[in-house]
Amino acid sequence: MPVRYLKRDNSEKDAHWYGDNAAFTCPVCNRIFLVCGHLRPNGQQCPPPGCGRSYAYVHGRLESGGIAVITWPITPGEFPDLEKLKNAAD
Ligand SMILES: [Zn+2]
Repeated sequence: MPVRYLKRDNSEKDAHWYGDNAAFTCPVCNRIFLVCGHLRPNGQQCPPPGCGRSYAYVHGRLESGGIAVITWPITPGEFPDLEKLKNAAD
């Protein structure tokens, strides 16, 4: 399953990360969606009316060693292994 970690310098044109908030472009449907790590501590899938086929997760904050990551494709309702995503970022 592909995994993309957002770059800390925000040099990517299709994503943005600020504090514990990150905007991701769903690699499946191309919609942009926002994930707030505070409100959604377990991340979220590409939300309706999107496709539900990617899952984004923000853990911690940009300025303090956090991660912002998106993985796909998933089955809508599937829950990726967040510990694995955290550990792979180290
Ligand atoms: Zn999508």
